[in-house]
This record gives sequence, structure tokens and C-alpha cells, in this order.
Amino acid sequence: MEILTTNHQPLTTKPGGRIKFALAYPNFYRVGMSNLGIHIIYELLNANKNISCERFFLSEGKELLSVETHTPLNKFQVVGFAVSFEPDYFNVVKMLTLGKIKIRASERTDFDPIIIAGGCCATFNPAPLAEIFDAFVIGEGEVILPPLMNEIISSENLPRLERLKKLSQVAGVYVPAFPKKVSRQWVKNLDDFPAHSTIVTDDAEFNMYLIETARGCGRHCRFCMAGYCFRKPRNRSLDVLKKEILDAKKFGKKIGLMGAAISDYPQIDELCKFILGEKLQMSVASFRADSVTEELVKSLAAGGLKTLTIAPEVGSEKMRRVINKGLTEENIFAAVELGLKAGIKNFRLYFMVGLPFENFSDVEEIARLSLRIKKFCGGRLTLSVNPFVPKPFTPFQWAAFAEKKYLESALKILRGSLKSTGGVEIISESIRSAQVQAILSRGDEKISEIILQSETAQDFRKNFKAAGLDEKFYLRERSLEENLPWDFLDQGFDKKYLIDEFNRAKNLKSTPPCFDGCKRCGVCEVI
Ligand code: SF4
Ligand code: SF4
Repeated sequence: MEILTTNHQPLTTKPGGRIKFALAYPNFYRVGMSNLGIHIIYELLNANKNISCERFFLSEGKELLSVETHTPLNKFQVVGFAVSFEPDYFNVVKMLTLGKIKIRASERTDFDPIIIAGGCCATFNPAPLAEIFDAFVIGEGEVILPPLMNEIISSENLPRLERLKKLSQVAGVYVPAFPKKVSRQWVKNLDDFPAHSTIVTDDAEFNMYLIETARGCGRHCRFCMAGYCFRKPRNRSLDVLKKEILDAKKFGKKIGLMGAAISDYPQIDELCKFILGEKLQMSVASFRADSVTEELVKSLAAGGLKTLTIAPEVGSEKMRRVINKGLTEENIFAAVELGLKAGIKNFRLYFMVGLPFENFSDVEEIARLSLRIKKFCGGRLTLSVNPFVPKPFTPFQWAAFAEKKYLESALKILRGSLKSTGGVEIISESIRSAQVQAILSRGDEKISEIILQSETAQDFRKNFKAAGLDEKFYLRERSLEENLPWDFLDQGFDKKYLIDEFNRAKNLKSTPPCFDGCKRCGVCEVI
């Protein structure tokens, strides 16, 4: 498919595209176009001669029309949403309303579109969206969508319920009307699906040409949804990446390397040298302080980077063991030093508060570590400190979302300890919005009813209260024996593995990264 090079350039609907597929991102154009998943699925669907796929993004209070042909949402036979962040659930409701589509799945008839959800949130916990969506893609779209679309095409003339039953038989598809155990599906070889920008636009948060270097992360950080959702590290081969970079040259954009921990890519230095050798600039989605190299930091500096972001997450040695991130203080200072050597003086540090087994002395350690880094670097220091939100299918899925009072005090400790130091800024997400996120992330089907009445987080809080639901119930610690709303999904690792990891966190025991030949969690046996 030809790459569209100008903003919002309409794509002529392909002749013979029997099925009109609306690919919807529940946020604004700039945000959605920075999501590589949208590019991948757009290309994949339009490569099928039977499908014509057009894009939809959130538009405030206006009629919802496709970017390509300005067709209303309800004129499409299938609407697929990419749902990667819980706060976007309300935007799904908003978009369906603006698109004049019945929000409740059970009220749709044979003449209404089939509404599908994919993305991390759909893969890990469909329950809070079960009343809205007809079907969920559990796992990676590249391998699930082709058979799903074949089934959608071949069942075109069936009544809606019979059709949905057929869809529920496709591997990796969960249909709430026909509940059953569903196994997450994986892309085995990334090289089979080159992933890069397919629409090049200046109108994106990341104004770059995006290329995915790797998927999954073998570091086993116990809080991390991305780490568990994509799990087994899979690298794209260097030759494929080089070809994608050469193809990108004609657009003259900065190359944005995407992946969970870019610095873990085995040939990262060679890749950086190649990009710079082609006279291109580069940027990365994230890197780890213990695998970042001089070459990578130099390449980022050459790409105009002025602030280096490092994610220690916690401040004390105890909490480092709890979260299993595997970063030492030496790693963190070595990364700062690499930044300074490359001429980068300003740093942004990511931390969380309210993690399981944490107390105020651990929070004080965050302040101490930050002060030492500030002294060491001399430049501006920005601390991004956010409440920890427990996520399904991670070892911390049973942990409580911390009490509001505790989080307020933790932030107060940090602000108090750092206020007399110039050049240090603390930014933090509001505790209320983190609470809503925590309710949504581990929510059940009961809150689905509340979400479909809510176009904003404020609506949700109001409707949640009016329905007599209890925040404490959703934010509480869960017992290891409790049946969780997402337990019916098979992610390739069993609950016992997560329980062991939770207990290792409690006992401050580390877990080594993935390695060749490892069979620990079971995922490598199903990929
Ligand atoms: S290194 Fe840890 S935090 Fe980063 S993506 Fe991997 S598992 Fe997540
Ligand atoms: S089986 Fe081992 S190598 Fe494979 S994903 Fe699980 S922990 Fe990682």
C-alpha cells in the first residue's frame, strides 16, 4: 500500500472492498497517529482486497466522520477500536454516541455494525467493556484479524447472534455473548510483519517516522503491564530494520524507534550508527539505565534531545527488590554520566508511590536519590511521580491501590524534601484520576454499565456513586484465592506463576530476566 505523505490526505476507497472497516482510536488525531498499532492494523486491513479500512479519531462535539472519505461511523459494517489506556474508555462511549451507534451491544441489530476492541486493555481485562463491545481481540492483531475478518466476511448474511457465535470460534477472539476460555495469540516472528509508519504526518505527538525494533520485554518488572502483556522478547532482525530505515529516508523525518526497552535490542549500537550514517536523526520510546550505551545516548543527543529520561521507579534498595526492575544506583548514575558526556544536562526521573510493601521511609529515599542526582548533574531535574495503579495479569494484580491519605502524605514528603533545592520540579497525576484508572483497570462487568453512561471521568464518578457501588471494593487488596474478572483468559502463564512472583516481591527476592531455553512462565511453549 502506498504511504500517505500529507496530513489527512483522503484515501480513495478501494474498489471491491466489500467490508467497510472503521479503525477508531479513542483519542485525538495527534495522539492516535503516534500509536504504531494504528499504522500496523491500517496497513494490514487495507492489504486485504475485500476490506477497505478508514480511520476515525475523537472529535469534540462534532459529527464523527472518517478521515479518508468523510463517511459517518454508522455506515461501516465493522468498527474496531484500539484501546490501550483506561481513561480512553470514556472516549469510546463519546465516539459511539457521536457516531450514532447504539452503545449497548445487546441492543444492536442485524443492521448495526459489529464493534470490536483490541489493544492492551482489551487483552488483559475485557470485563469493564463487555456491555459495549461485541467482540475482543485477545493478543496481537496481526495474527487474529485475518481469520477474524474472513469469518466476518463469510458470515455476512447470518443473523447477528449466529454471526457473533461464529466469531467466538476464531482463536484469540472473545465474544461476551458466548463466553468461553480464550487463549491470547502471539506473533512468532516479527520479521513477518514489518511495523512502521504507514501514514506520514506532521500532525502527531511524535512527529517522527516510527519503526518497531522489538516487542515484549524479558525483564519481569512486577508492576509493568507492557512487560506482561507482550512478555517474550522478540527482536526484529537488523537487516529488516535497515531496510525500513532506508525506506523512511525519503520522508526526511526523525526515526522514532519503538519497543518496550530499546536499549535491550542486541545490536543497538550498530542500529544507531546506521541511522546516523544515513544522515537521519533518531529518538527512542524508552531505554533502560542498565543497558543504555554511549552510542545510543550520543545518537539521541545528535537528534536534538535536551532532557534524558530515566525511570528508577523507586528510591530504596528494598523497593528495588520488590519491583524487580533490576536497576542499581550505579546503573542510574552511569546513565546520568553518559547523558552529561553527550552534552545533555537536564534529566527527567520517573517514580511511583503507593507500591505494595512501600512505606514513608522508602518515599524519603526517592527524595534522597533525586537530590544526589541533582547535585551530580547540575542541570534541571524533573520528577514525574505518579500513584501506582495495579494491573491485571501482573504479580501486583492483588495489591491495593494505596489510600488517598497515604498518597497525599507521600507527595508532601517529596515536595517538602525538595522544595529548597532550585532547579527541581515535581509533576504528578491527580490522585482522583489515578483512582478512576485503578477502578477501571481491575473492574468487573458491573462497572461496564457505569462506563456506558459516562463520557468523562467526572460522569463516571457521579454515576458510580449513584449506582451505590463502593470505591473501596474496587481499590482494595484482593485475596490470592479470589476469582478475578480476567481469570478466564489464558495469557500463556498460569496464576501460580504470578502468585510465586508476588511472594518473591514480599520476600524481597529478585527474578532473573528471560533467557534462551527458559521455560519458567510457560509463554515460550505457546509462542
Ligand atoms: S524493563 Fe521493566 S518497566 Fe521497562 S518495559 Fe520491561 S518490564 Fe516494563
Ligand atoms: S518462558 Fe522464560 S523466557 Fe519465555 S517468556 Fe517466560 S520467563 Fe521469559
